[in-house]
This record gives sequence, C-alpha cells and structure tokens, in this order.
Amino acid sequence: MILPPATLGLLGGGQLGRYFTISARNMGYRVWVLDPDPDSPAGRLADRHLCARFDDPGALAELATQAAVVTCEFENVPADSAGWLAGRVLLRPDPRALAIAQDRLAEKRFLEDAGVAVAPWLPVEDLEAARDAVPDWSLPAILKTARLGYDGKGQLPVRTRDDVARAFSRLGEVPCVLEQRVDLQQEVSVVLARAPDGSCRCFPLAENEHRGGILHLSRVPARVSDAIREQAEAIARHIAERLDYQGVLAVEFFVTASGKLLVNEAAPRPHNSGHYTLDAVTVSQFEQQVRAICGLALVPAEPVAPAAMLNLLGDLWPANGAVPDFSGLLSHPRARLHLYGKPVARPGRKMGHVNILGAPGEADASRPARLAEILWTELRDSATEGAGDG
Ligand code: ATP
Ligand code: MG
Repeated sequence: MILPPATLGLLGGGQLGRYFTISARNMGYRVWVLDPDPDSPAGRLADRHLCARFDDPGALAELATQAAVVTCEFENVPADSAGWLAGRVLLRPDPRALAIAQDRLAEKRFLEDAGVAVAPWLPVEDLEAARDAVPDWSLPAILKTARLGYDGKGQLPVRTRDDVARAFSRLGEVPCVLEQRVDLQQEVSVVLARAPDGSCRCFPLAENEHRGGILHLSRVPARVSDAIREQAEAIARHIAERLDYQGVLAVEFFVTASGKLLVNEAAPRPHNSGHYTLDAVTVSQFEQQVRAICGLALVPAEPVAPAAMLNLLGDLWPANGAVPDFSGLLSHPRARLHLYGKPVARPGRKMGHVNILGAPGEADASRPARLAEILWTELRDSATEGAGDG
C-alpha cells in the first residue's frame, strides 16, 4: 500500500484532476500535477504544479523522482512520456491501457478481440480507403479521427460515399474510424475502480443525454432493465480484466432501438458521467481513484439517493464576462454546485456541474432531472438577458 503522506503524481490538470487532488489531499497525500496551463483547475490546488508540456524531460524526471505512483486524468498522455515514466515509477493505469484508450482504431480492435460488441466500423487510414472501401451497410455513418477527439470534436457525419472522402479531407487526412450511425434508444456508462490485487467495484449505471456531442445530463438510476444493467457492468468488468487495469475506468455504451448493448468507447480515468458520485454515492469516483492506485481497499459504492448531474457549459456564462446568477440554484437544498475555477468561459467549455439529489427512498431520478432542466433554463435565460448588458 502507498500510504499518506506519500506524493501522488497526476498527468493533466483539468476538473477531473481537481477532484482527484481534493480527495488525495483530504486523505493526507501530497499531489504533484503536470499540466502546461498555468491556470489549470487541478494545478491551482496541488502541492506543486509542474507547469510544463507532457513531454518535458525535466518535469517528467521530477515527477518520477518525487511520486510514489503516477496516474492520469486524461488519456492523451504522449506514448513516449508514459513509457518513460513506467520504466521509473509506478504508472497506473499502465501505458498499454493508455495506448488503447487514446486511439479509436486500437480500441475497436481490442474490444473486438475481447468479444465485446461495438457499432459496425471500418478503418479509414488513407484517401483511397476513404473513397473506395465504403460498403453501403455503413451509411449513414460518422467519421471519427482515431486520436485526440473529445466532446464530439474530430467527428463528421457522413451520408454518402462521396461524403467520406470530403470528411476525411476536412479532418486533416489523419487515420480515422468510420462508424455506422446507431439508432440510439439511450446512452449509459459504467465507472469502475480496479485495484492492483484485482478487486473491482462498479458505480451505479448512469444514463446520459448528450446535446451537440457534449454530455448535458446524467441520471442515476438509469432507466434500463435489470438485464441491461447487469450486462453493462459485466462488460465493463471484462474490459478491466482484459487490461489487467489499475485505477478508475469508464465505459460508455449505446443501447440500440432493438435493445442491444454496444460499447462506444472507454476512458482510462474518472468520467464526466461519474460526477454524481461526488454527492450521491458513499464514495466518489475520485476517492476511489486514489484508493485504487494506492492499493487501498475499495469502498463499496452504494447510492445515497437518486440523482441528476447537469453540466454547466460556458454557454451559460454571460457574454460580458460576468458569472451566472446562481442564487436560484443555490436556494434549492438538494442542488449541489461545483465550479472548476476556470478563469475564462467559452461556448462548450465545461465550467462546472450541479448534482441534484432526490429524497432518500425516492425510486427514480425523474424529479431531480426535471429540476435540473428548470435550473438550466433559468441560467440560460439569464445569460441571454445579460448578453445585452455588456
Ligand atoms: P466524449 O469526449 O464526450 O466522450 P467523444 O468526442 O469521445 O466524446 P463519442 O463518445 O465517440 O465522442 O461521441 C460523442 C457522442 O456522439 C456520443 O455520446 C453519441 O451521443 C454520439 N455518437 C457517437 N457515435 C455515434 C454513433 N455511432 N451512432 C450514434 N450516435 C453516436
Ligand atoms: Mg464519448
């Protein structure tokens, strides 16, 4: 076991890292964060912020010397940095898990090898493949860059064969995955923690609603059958086993109109759809991440109440640089506000979220989800009104 006050290293300083840092420091660990952004949400709360690129040899060397274990809060850690670190210090999850999660082609191949169902897909790695190799079954589809996509970025819809070549050019002729558009009934996700001894705990299944390619609302419990719930958890555990995974892993699923469960993608870190665990579960995904990478006992993740998690994007921030009026939201005793301390709001940028809890014993998240929509509408309307002021 890695015990406090050991130093934990973190690659990436975003909001996921901010909560990791809070959890770890709360438990008496020291946290060193590597992130090139001087205003990174996690760097501001860390014991030390190494403000450098993820391939900076000096910063990596400092991290390797100081930290008892290093983890990440985003998947796009350069392969060379991950490999270099793993040769000198415990890196959890390991470079293989990171390499698979940061490349959709590698991820699809890994999932298929593991016998996990995914949407029909095909690699598009050059212009010729983009023109010729597109069978009719695959349309309509989405062309996704293999690397560096997030929040729906690096994706274009494709309706005809000609679209594929056009989309491939617009995406910069980088390796891509062409994925059939699935007739979605729902999207759900499993966040789990797996410790070095192989023990594994899943968080309750979340049901996710996206708007414009970005997560808008998660509700827990998800409105799915017990069979789907159990299957999603079993698949997520299976993926973690196959990777001999250490840390927190998130698996996103599509539930198709015909009731089939397909894996969309996996993230080697805590997940936006797991933010409800900060308030609505006996342990948060971030404390569980600390516990998993340090080899501590994982806490049973029991729901405290049904919950809805609403993302607060920069679109809700008034254009004049002011902060939204949160007084309405904060007058609800069951609405818990989380802001990430990002100095500049931009449309689509994740600025914070709010967790809305149901009463204990309430059977589902319909009331919290309704309140979330009301609060979101209030904030949006006041942002639009405020836009005229400045
Ligand atoms: P994030 O960072 O939010 O996870 P991402 O950029 O990695 O997003 P995906 O998860 O691949 O992108 O896609 C984002 C969303 O777009 C999905 O959650 C889903 O709503 C929609 N989507 C993606 N692929 C498909 C598909 N094959 N069929 C239908 N909808 C899809
Ligand atoms: Mg996704």
